[in-house]
Amino acid sequence: MDRRETKRRAEEADVAEPRNKLARPALSLPTDPALYSGPFPFYRRPSELGCFSLDAQRQYHGDAHALRYYSPPPTYGQGPKFDLRDGYPDRYQPRDEEVREGLDHLLRWLLDHRGQLEGGPGWLAGAIVTWRGHLTKLLTTPYEQQEGWQLAASRFQGTLYLSEVETPAARAQRLARPPLLRELMYMGYKFEQYMCADKPESSPDPSGDVNTNVAFCSVLRSRLGNHPLLFSGEVDCTDPQAPSTQPPTCYVELKTAKEMHRPGHWRSFYRHKLLKWWAQSFLLGVPNVVAGFRNPEGFICSLKTFPTMEMFEYVRNDRDGWNPSVCMNFCAAFLSFAQNTVVQDDPRLVHLFSWEPGSPVTVSKHQDAPYAFLPTWYVEAMTQDLPSPPKTPSPKD
Ligand code: GDP
Ligand code: MG
Repeated sequence: MDRRETKRRAEEADVAEPRNKLARPALSLPTDPALYSGPFPFYRRPSELGCFSLDAQRQYHGDAHALRYYSPPPTYGQGPKFDLRDGYPDRYQPRDEEVREGLDHLLRWLLDHRGQLEGGPGWLAGAIVTWRGHLTKLLTTPYEQQEGWQLAASRFQGTLYLSEVETPAARAQRLARPPLLRELMYMGYKFEQYMCADKPESSPDPSGDVNTNVAFCSVLRSRLGNHPLLFSGEVDCTDPQAPSTQPPTCYVELKTAKEMHRPGHWRSFYRHKLLKWWAQSFLLGVPNVVAGFRNPEGFICSLKTFPTMEMFEYVRNDRDGWNPSVCMNFCAAFLSFAQNTVVQDDPRLVHLFSWEPGSPVTVSKHQDAPYAFLPTWYVEAMTQDLPSPPKTPSPKD
């Protein structure tokens, strides 16, 4: 079947949009890139509503104390020589990945700020609340050939909440993570330590521990098509020298990649890694990704800045490249699919959206444990806000 034919059939199937309110929601959503290659959809410039920090014990603070400052090495003289394996494993304090945090930290922020949200009364009731990382997975789905995902969805007071569930395959992989991969994860965080200072006027201190409990998270408002979004994402650092000091445009994302020596290596990097980097940074409005390239001995010897808005240029003329329109159109289609599927307003009801490469997205329904993810403290606090029914019986009763 050629591309046009695939597209026509999908239009006939009218996959995610019921024709009228009586129509049943679709049962599945296809993910083939050819179905989503229309014009780039509307995406509101993300604006920062606030932020929070997680400390070395993974405790929440409603402030920016964990925000670090971009502090690259001087560009004169020789290039950098960052030993990314330094401190491993003795100065590594990795976050406990068995702790399932769900949306909890973001919900804590939302509870503290629900009275001051912009967008007018009722804005939150029409919004989708999630982590940026979950949206990144949606954006890259049409091109993903390795890892599936599961997203749990609940509607509560109108708002649609989306929280990822670790798939059995992902859990098995995590528990069996090879030692070399563990070290590679450390190296990514170590690079951040070489590139970031704790204060705008100070320099990086690579002598300390690498503690991955610590995080600075930005909370943003945006809109994709007709879907208002409130999401949060972890930000590596802010650039005190950035042309604009206004977040998120002052934020910088730091990444590492293997040193590449052949054109084929670069091609593959543009097709796969750059797609993930683009999706993650574009969603949050981070203008630049600074990459450190590591040699086989684990040293960073060169740096390169990739402006987020220029990443697509590397694959624009590549038949096997990715297309930002496809990513965003698929995400919008998924959000419509989810909005139309999760009709009942009930924080204990979960629609579980599951996807495996090569298949469409499917749905199953679940009540309470183990899938329900909106914590009682959140549901109760939000419920107490609503005008409560009169306590004394009305004369008619
Ligand atoms: P990212 O885009 O994948 O880095 O994820 P986000 O920026 O949306 O981060 C959302 C929250 O998840 C933050 O509190 C992060 O500290 C946390 N987080 C980031 N990556 C991971 C991960 O690989 N596993 C787990 N469990 N949490 C993560
Ligand atoms: Mg990073």
